[in-house]
Amino acid sequence: MRAGLIAGNWKMNGSLQSVTELVEGIKAGDAGKAELAVCPPAVFLMKVGGMLADTDIALGAQNVCNRDAGAFTGEISAAMLKESGCRYAIVGHSERRSLYLESDQLVAARFEMAVKNGLAPILCVGETLYEHEQGVTEAVVAKQIDAVLDATGIAGFAQAVIAYEPVWAIGTGLVASPEKAQAVHAFIRGKLAASDSGIAQQVRILYGGSMNASNAADLLSQADIDGGLIGGASLKADDFLAIAQSV
Ligand code: PEP
Repeated sequence: MRAGLIAGNWKMNGSLQSVTELVEGIKAGDAGKAELAVCPPAVFLMKVGGMLADTDIALGAQNVCNRDAGAFTGEISAAMLKESGCRYAIVGHSERRSLYLESDQLVAARFEMAVKNGLAPILCVGETLYEHEQGVTEAVVAKQIDAVLDATGIAGFAQAVIAYEPVWAIGTGLVASPEKAQAVHAFIRGKLAASDSGIAQQVRILYGGSMNASNAADLLSQADIDGGLIGGASLKADDFLAIAQSV
């Protein structure tokens, strides 16, 4: 049985004050049976981690460097994130892939570095609107996953989470239908099962893309949807917790 995980990706939003209020709001509320994780901007990781120390809410980073240490200005190493209290690190978010031109291979190297340092990568995969309309979703997702399999083998997925995030659904208010999302999640699990059925059954596959309190229950009722990666709706404690309560 895979425990439902609701992870908030705060992106480049908030201030010290608003982040503090958000964490206080999440801590004061009821997440039901869901496991929670929050991924604040890197400068707030230590602050948020300190506030979460007396809770079960996990801390995650929004990215992780593909190198150990050294002259990589602007990057943050997996060891630093670990030391800052992170359990998770998002890798391959579509905004990183499209705006910062991160290739499948770079994303895979970031994933590998997370695993090597005991962080659980949250690997984002998903197709653009054009790819969606061309009907090549499975091929795109397979290629993104194959790059990681080439880097770490199936063993890398033993401690990983996958987030299927159709790019056309991120921040747009458009959401994949539960049936279509389920079909892609089942495809991803089946792909991993071809290498190791045990790992495939254990890996959590989250849905991301305009998930909110109104559509979460239908998405989360699908057999292979094990939680959500939440952008906009994770910035308000009540909205985030309402999604969690749908698990
Ligand atoms: C995301 O960016 O990972 C995301 C799912 O965003 P939103 O929930 O705002 O669509």
